[in-house]
This record gives sequence, C-alpha cells and structure tokens, in this order.
Amino acid sequence: MSNFYHKKSLGQNFLRNKKLLEKISKIKKLKNEYVIEIGPGSGALTEFILRENPKILTVIEKDEDLKSTLNKFKQKYPENFNLIFSDALTFDISTLTKKKIILIGNLPYNIATTLIIDWMRNYKTFKALVVMVQKEVAQRLYAKAGTKFYGRTSVLVQANATVEEKFEVTANNFFPKPKVNSSVIEIIPFKKDFNYESLDKILKISFLHRRKILKNNLKNLNIDTKKIQANGINLSSRPQDLTPNDYIKLSQILFC
Ligand code: SAM
Repeated sequence: MSNFYHKKSLGQNFLRNKKLLEKISKIKKLKNEYVIEIGPGSGALTEFILRENPKILTVIEKDEDLKSTLNKFKQKYPENFNLIFSDALTFDISTLTKKKIILIGNLPYNIATTLIIDWMRNYKTFKALVVMVQKEVAQRLYAKAGTKFYGRTSVLVQANATVEEKFEVTANNFFPKPKVNSSVIEIIPFKKDFNYESLDKILKISFLHRRKILKNNLKNLNIDTKKIQANGINLSSRPQDLTPNDYIKLSQILFC
C-alpha cells in the first residue's frame, strides 16, 4: 500500500480507526452468513468482517490497483473469501447466491444514494445493509415525514425498509480526510408489494416543488380528487407531509 495514490474520483477515503472498523463489523451477527462488502479499498474493514466468520465474504472493488493488497486475503481465508473487480453500479448482486445477503460497505460518497436506491429495488436479495455514508445522505435516508430532510430518497428507502442511524464518524478518522462527517446506518428490508417505478414516478412529480401543495404539483395528471381524498390523502398537504404508505397508495391510485 505504500505506493498507493488515493483516487478522489473513486471516493477513496479510507477509515483508519480500528475500534470503529470493528464496531461496524459487529453491528450484525455475521457468523455463517453470506456477506458482501462494497468497496473494500485496502481491506481494513474486510479483515474485521472475516474475523466474524461469515460463510463467505464477497468483496466488490472497482480499482484494480488494489489487486495485490486484496489478493492477500485469498491466502489467509481461502475458503471464505471471494474477490471480484467490478463496478458496483452495474454488478447484479442477486447472481452471487440465492441466500439472503448482508451487505456492508463504507460507500464511495458520490454514488452512495444511487447504489442504495438501486439495492432497495431488489430488496428481497438482502437480510440487512450496513453502510457508511455522508452524514447528509444518512439524514435523508432516515428522515421521517414532516421533517426538513424528508424527500424522495427517504420514501424510496423507507417504503420497504426500516432505517436506523447507528453512529456518526467524524472526518478525522479517515485518510485522506474528507470535508464532511459520515454516519453508519442499518437498513432492514421488509416485504411490501408495490410497483417501484410507479412510486418513483409519483415522487418525482410530487417533490418537484416542495413549497407547493400536492394538488398543485399533480395538476397535470388529471387526477380523481375525490378518490384520492377518500383514501385518506389530503391533497392540500405539502409533499413532505405524506408518509411512505401514502405515496404507495397514491401511486397505486394513479398508475396501477
Ligand atoms: N472499505 C474501505 C474503508 O472503509 O476504508 C474503503 C472505502 S472508500 C470510502 C470506497 C471504496 O469504494 C474505494 O476502495 C473505491 O475504490 C471503491 N469504489 C469506488 N467506486 C466503486 C464502484 N463503482 N464499484 C465498486 N467499488 C467502488
């Protein structure tokens, strides 16, 4: 690792605090579980995950300059370690196993939200997700209806999962030091049947203007006002006042 140059474009801020790395690895019981780590970097968190004895740990890393560093885990844990060099944005995790997966990762900042929303589309693949993201992103993910940070991202994740902040990690625990603090969050998916694309469509329209009431944001959709109100949705609310369940109902009324 001594000659390694951290790539800003890949969000390579490596977590250096061993106590925090261990704490992340112990949030879920990993023994005999099918675990995936996204963006192992130099393998600091990888080592702590492997010490918890997962059935198999698959790591997905985009930067092939980390090959020699990560290959060392193959020798140390030949039965439990699977190394894949690929782009997490396009890699289909569900092809790895039919078992439910625990996903862990200190995610690259610039693609964290896209990755999480994409995984939630395939939520049945996961038992749990433990991810570190920029504090501001975390605030949006766990924000409740009616609060400042609540928006499209909050609804897309909370429509079929519970989201909990486990702890905050200050910027000085990383090298190189990022400009912002981070949070570790736990996402536990639950079964809920709805059309994800319809939900996303209504969210994009509803949150176009946060200050306008819903009725005005939806005015181009030729909506049946009475039917919507009869389902308990107040069209005079602002978009941030509807719960994830309200939005699922609304998407079903309008697009199904
Ligand atoms: N796990 C290490 C840690 O905790 O110190 C590194 C985390 S660092 C924030 C993000 C890692 O994700 C880097 O190793 C980076 O190369 C990798 N990465 C960036 N974009 C990626 C992508 N699209 N697919 C897979 N890995 C990616």
